[in-house]
Amino acid sequence: MRDARSCHCSRCRKAFSAQASAYALLDEEVFSWTSGEELLTSYIGEQGFGLQFCKVCGSTLTGIYDGRIHGVTLGCVDGDPDIEIGMHIYVGSKAAWEVLPQEESRAAFYQAGSDG
Ligand SMILES: [Zn+2]
Repeated sequence: MRDARSCHCSRCRKAFSAQASAYALLDEEVFSWTSGEELLTSYIGEQGFGLQFCKVCGSTLTGIYDGRIHGVTLGCVDGDPDIEIGMHIYVGSKAAWEVLPQEESRAAFYQAGSDG
């Protein structure tokens, strides 16, 4: 896994049913399902990005792009994935009810983009 991020855009808020996503990229070559692949179902958006879910428990598991594994949702990883969120993106689109940490040291941590 690499480039762990939390995206505050409106799409991610809905997809993750939270204030933001928690997601890390991975290279498809190093990823494989060990079991339960037949229990996956997918949502694919207009631009080819999508998510895979467990049909049994509803957990959001992976992000896919153009039919290939793109990344993994950090909330579904058991144990310590040995990676930390290194960036918060689309903070300019955050929900009105989300309160961000105010410490001065956090200022550079957040990128104030907006998804419209
Ligand atoms: Zn997003």
